[in-house]
Amino acid sequence: MKTNSTDSKCKICKSDINEDYYREQLCFRCYHWINTIFAEIDNNTRHRFIIDGNHYCEIKKFPIHLKYLLKFYGDNFTIRLLDNNAIILCNNLWSQGKIPEIIKEKFPKETANTAMFESIQVKKS
Ligand SMILES: [Zn+2]
Repeated sequence: MKTNSTDSKCKICKSDINEDYYREQLCFRCYHWINTIFAEIDNNTRHRFIIDGNHYCEIKKFPIHLKYLLKFYGDNFTIRLLDNNAIILCNNLWSQGKIPEIIKEKFPKETANTAMFESIQVKKS
């Protein structure tokens, strides 16, 4: 998509938009984070967490022949939800990384911490 000079700045962080990543007047980074923090829970995702400002998803188990794809090598995480103290046990936690400050400033409610790590059990090979 061709952009003019006023459209070529990201509407959230005001950085220059690389045309290759132009989506809804967002730079690639902001596009990634908007789609991450507002993502629906789909058939493959069981939970989404924000822990210490980092975004994580628990993805359903892979078929046994794809077990090597488990994130964090299949380490077992015990995660406590902050709103109701529920405990989630998961062995396929995917990290999307630390949420940038500019995204946290624009969407404080959606980027507030939702959970904490209770324990991490490293899987022995
Ligand atoms: Zn941006």
